[in-house]
Amino acid sequence: MLHWFYRTIYGKSVVFMKILVSACLLGVACKYSGGDNVCPALLNAVQHSGHTFIPICPEVYGGLPTPRPPAERTGDCVLTETGTDVTAQYQRGAEAALQLARLTGCEAAILKANSPSCGCGTIYDGTFRHRKIAGDGVTAELLQAHGLCVYNEDNFSELLRYV
Ligand code: SF4
Repeated sequence: MLHWFYRTIYGKSVVFMKILVSACLLGVACKYSGGDNVCPALLNAVQHSGHTFIPICPEVYGGLPTPRPPAERTGDCVLTETGTDVTAQYQRGAEAALQLARLTGCEAAILKANSPSCGCGTIYDGTFRHRKIAGDGVTAELLQAHGLCVYNEDNFSELLRYV
């Protein structure tokens, strides 16, 4: 169930939401490589939709630096290509994102597809060969387990159309 709030604009009641969003999709250079994953359509929605967007980067919240070695999920663990176990940092970042969602009243999120933190529905398979499998990133998994609806940069218009 999405938590909506209303504003009256020109005498009309309009529905708005609070939405967590992957900061890299908004152009923040928090990606593992030091770059971003800017999504112009999402930026446009942030500027013009009237919804409240709250940027998050779970990997940074978890204490990882930028840039940082790429990592992928392997079962319940998250490992870098050289085998360093960064599961604890990913879990810490996911908990921080959930805490922020609760504090701000977000019940939906738009998160970067395929990421070991933010991916929802598909993620890389842990071999570092650009192969995808069904699964969720650590943060997407935790948010969904606590009732948030998670979208990505390819399907977020479904969420915005919904309201
Ligand atoms: Fe983007 Fe999420 Fe990776 Fe941060 S953890 S860089 S928000 S995909």
